[in-house]
Amino acid sequence: MCAILTVIPLMRMAALRYSVPSGAPSRTGCDACGAPVGLTRPWPALGPAARCGRCRARVGPPPGTVELAGLAAVLLLALAVPSGGALPALAWWLGWTIPAVFVDLAVHRLPDRLTLPAAAGTWLLLGVAALDAEPGHWLRAAIGGAGLALFFASSTLLLGHRGFGLGDAKLALSAGALLGWYGWPVLVLGLLVAFGLSALVSVGLLAVRRARWSTHLPFGPFLLLGAVSAILLAG
Ligand SMILES: [Zn+2]
Repeated sequence: MCAILTVIPLMRMAALRYSVPSGAPSRTGCDACGAPVGLTRPWPALGPAARCGRCRARVGPPPGTVELAGLAAVLLLALAVPSGGALPALAWWLGWTIPAVFVDLAVHRLPDRLTLPAAAGTWLLLGVAALDAEPGHWLRAAIGGAGLALFFASSTLLLGHRGFGLGDAKLALSAGALLGWYGWPVLVLGLLVAFGLSALVSVGLLAVRRARWSTHLPFGPFLLLGAVSAILLAG
């Protein structure tokens, strides 16, 4: 529990730091007054209130949201089946993917600085778990991760802006590996939930005229929700 309490401000800091347009330098302080926000001065900017300590302006993701996501992650880790030692990989993946999704929601991109460590650690931890599990797990994880990433990346090449982004492909590298580890039905279910939710939200936004046909929703949040629901249902 204590570990989570220290990790949540770190997730908040990552989301705040990388929620900037592509190519812009990462954010190091409050947008309104420039007061630095970092681990040396975490409070209250990296707390649930998400307010600058000097000018009280809001900094980073909305108050309480990262905290809620962090608690949901703890719940998931408690409820998920420990399938062949996959829990450390799942914990690692959530720790990086939750801030990445907050960045995706804010500025519609998934930064390499979050998706690549997520992928490297997930593959490594699944590799460690594979020493003890049946070899099928690792093989499915490798095929799932690489296959899903290739599928997303090829949609970028074939469809350009109408396809997925390369950030989605890098997130798929880890999400596909985790889902593949749990089994092919879990991988398929995760994708179905992700695509289904994204379609539902698109139609909903169209209906209330908050979006047009050409609007492009970020896909990272749906991939996270799809993966999490499939892993929960795997038990
Ligand atoms: Zn400020």
